Amino acid sequence: MKFEVTILGSSSATPVFNRNPTAQLLNCNEKFYLIDCGEGTQQQLIRFNLKSARIDYIFISHLHGDHYFGLIGLLSSLHLNGRIKPMQIFGPAALLEILEIQFKHSDTTLRYPLEFFPIDPTASTQIFENSDLIVKTIILNHRIPCTGFIFEQKQRQRKLIKDKAEEVPMAYYTVLKKGLNVELPNGDILLSEDYTTPADPPRSYAYCSDTLLDERYFPMIKNCDTLYHEATFMHELLDRANETHHTTALQAGEVAKINHVKKLIIGHFSSRYKTLQMLLEEAQSVFENTELAIEGKTYPL
Ligand SMILES: [Zn+2]
Ligand SMILES: [Zn+2]
Repeated sequence: MKFEVTILGSSSATPVFNRNPTAQLLNCNEKFYLIDCGEGTQQQLIRFNLKSARIDYIFISHLHGDHYFGLIGLLSSLHLNGRIKPMQIFGPAALLEILEIQFKHSDTTLRYPLEFFPIDPTASTQIFENSDLIVKTIILNHRIPCTGFIFEQKQRQRKLIKDKAEEVPMAYYTVLKKGLNVELPNGDILLSEDYTTPADPPRSYAYCSDTLLDERYFPMIKNCDTLYHEATFMHELLDRANETHHTTALQAGEVAKINHVKKLIIGHFSSRYKTLQMLLEEAQSVFENTELAIEGKTYPL
């Protein structure tokens, strides 16, 4: 099953030459989840040949413009392009008010249902579930209420061994895939382990932007497979990071190390950095398995 994320924007605050404000597209089993929607997200989707019409779920972390200024444009384009299937949006309660006032004054009535789910910014909760995954919020520490998200795949069923499975009627597949044995009418037993192999272990992706380093969110990301963490500044600007409620690259590495994640992706880079290698090296000095969030690049999770 596909479980991967494509970076659409990696810049903090403002667009800069060759970097866009925050947005990511998560693909889980060919269902598409947009995480934040900074200005320019539509152009990035087009540029990287990703179909906005396939997005059915949008998660917005907070109401700083670099995380949602692209949303009204995206929703409007989907409307103009004839979308009729529902769009689910998860975000701060005030986001609905902002969207509604923009639709009202442009006299827009969306052709498709917009299903809005306000997020409680005070406690981590499960906000979404389908057959593939669940999504929980991560309470971050920013200047305004801000939540990250953790996408956790569900435990999947065992996989049929093709050659062996052909020996028995298909009617037994469901039971065998659940790990249960089948008793045949003649008393013979089909052992699940003879016909199936274990499922791949479920994986998890945690998204943390924007935040001060704060131990209170650590339990939510502990042992996750891939952590995306903001790394707005180099550590020499720690005072600036604290003032603006952001994290340094060194701190992002520390968060990954302390929480025993398997892989770290850093992003949300300040526009002051023309190149990013030094941010990468700083994070890697603490946590080696770190990668930069590069726009257009897809990361298997
Ligand atoms: Zn931001
Ligand atoms: Zn922010």
